Amino acid sequence: MNKLNIHEVIGIGIGPFNLGMAALLEEQNIDALFFDESPSFNWHPGMLIEGSDLQVPFLADLVTFADPTSRFSFLNYLHTQKRLFSFYFFNRFDIPRREYNNYAQWVAGQLSNCHFGKSVIDIIDRPDDRPPCYEVVIEDRETKKQQHFHTKNVVVGTGTKPMVPKDLEKHLGDGVFHSSQYQYVVDELEESDSILIAGSGQSAAEIFLDQLQNQRSKPFLHWLTRSSGFFQLEAGKLGQEVFSPDYIDYFHELPFEKRKNELPNLSQLRNGVEESTLHQIYDLLYHRSVHPQELSVHIQANTEVVDIEKIDKQYKVYCFQRQQDKSFDLTVDKVVLATGYKPHIPDWFEKFRELIEWEDTNRFAVTRDYQLVFKKHRSHQIYTLSNLEHSHGPGATNLALSVLRNITIINRIVGHELYPEQQGGVFQQFGLKKDEEAK
Ligand SMILES: Cc1cc2nc3c(=O)[nH]c(=O)nc-3n(C[C@H](O)[C@H](O)[C@H](O)COP(=O)(O)OP(=O)(O)OC[C@H]3O[C@@H](n4cnc5c(N)ncnc54)[C@H](O)[C@@H]3O)c2cc1C
Repeated sequence: MNKLNIHEVIGIGIGPFNLGMAALLEEQNIDALFFDESPSFNWHPGMLIEGSDLQVPFLADLVTFADPTSRFSFLNYLHTQKRLFSFYFFNRFDIPRREYNNYAQWVAGQLSNCHFGKSVIDIIDRPDDRPPCYEVVIEDRETKKQQHFHTKNVVVGTGTKPMVPKDLEKHLGDGVFHSSQYQYVVDELEESDSILIAGSGQSAAEIFLDQLQNQRSKPFLHWLTRSSGFFQLEAGKLGQEVFSPDYIDYFHELPFEKRKNELPNLSQLRNGVEESTLHQIYDLLYHRSVHPQELSVHIQANTEVVDIEKIDKQYKVYCFQRQQDKSFDLTVDKVVLATGYKPHIPDWFEKFRELIEWEDTNRFAVTRDYQLVFKKHRSHQIYTLSNLEHSHGPGATNLALSVLRNITIINRIVGHELYPEQQGGVFQQFGLKKDEEAK
């Protein structure tokens, strides 16, 4: 019988998290394969709005926190594109989101371990093989041909998928869209007479701003949110220290109930709107209001979209003002639901349900170094980069921390400190140190 070719790592999904992992592994000549079902790398393409920025400094590129000398750094990208001088005059840390996408595509294009147009449709556990491994089943999106690969370690990087309230899901399509589709439908939106945007996070604000900037006499814009207001993302520097390895250490040690209860308290760090976006919106509203007839907007908080009904070519949107306990409806041409994202957990994950530990029915236990916790000790591991908020805190989807996470995982896989693990660098202490605890 042929001996199996067992790879060191197979990564599922190539978003920025696994792309950074692929770049670091390739630089170290570690045998790895990465698969993504999309035809090519494209970072949240529906939200690549001109003028929108990455919400973290460019230093949070795919590799710099692991190795600032890497050829895959953002600065090297700029250098090779002959953009370094204009970036120097640009003199800012926050780069255009569209440029981050170009940079990541440039990295992906140089990696021989990344394969696009390939869905991972199954993972088969092979604990009794010598050595134990996983069999990863891939389907080519075009030819539907299946291939089987074997690996010692799986790294799940399947990211997130759009979240839409259950009652509204059935209306998606036609004139009702999730914000993730925005760039694909923007021409359609521009032709309409009225648009309703629901949500008060960064995506909703960017879409409202983009529409407002292009609005002449139409479309009329309704911007509603269920939240108590259109609030700013907390950006104070001490507060930002929550996005640090030290905080992850602290958070991960807390009991599940404490972690779960703490996440809503920290939501201002993740769920508001960037100060600059809110400024732009307000300034534009103010300028338009010089001629009130040019200001065709309705902005309202505490208001939930509860249902939608299609009437001819329009949509009747049923709304509820939560504090006044009053219902009303609006008739619009298009609806954009900027209602967020949820972890994307592949179906085959269910097969591991009985083998691993769970913190509650939907949230699996994860070790500090990102391994799923198997009830029975094993040498072949599944690492996850997705669905980590409950275990590793609000920085779970932060691009800078994803590089630090990749360092930890790579070091565990190779069994020594290939990349120095970054600790410290924050001014506050998140809990008592071991020697400070009362005896
Ligand atoms: C619009 C938007 C803007 C954001 N901006 C920032 C920001 O500025 N700063 C920041 O720190 N964070 C930001 N985030 C949060 C986070 O950094 C991103 O969501 C990031 O894309 C997460 O990367 P990822 O690799 O986990 O997953 P994703 O980028 O979601 O990629 C997952 C990939 O997995 C693939 N996939 C899924 N299932 C399979 C399968 N079965 N087989 C093969 N492939 C599969 C998908 O095709 C996809 O390409 C933003 C999020 C959104 C939605």
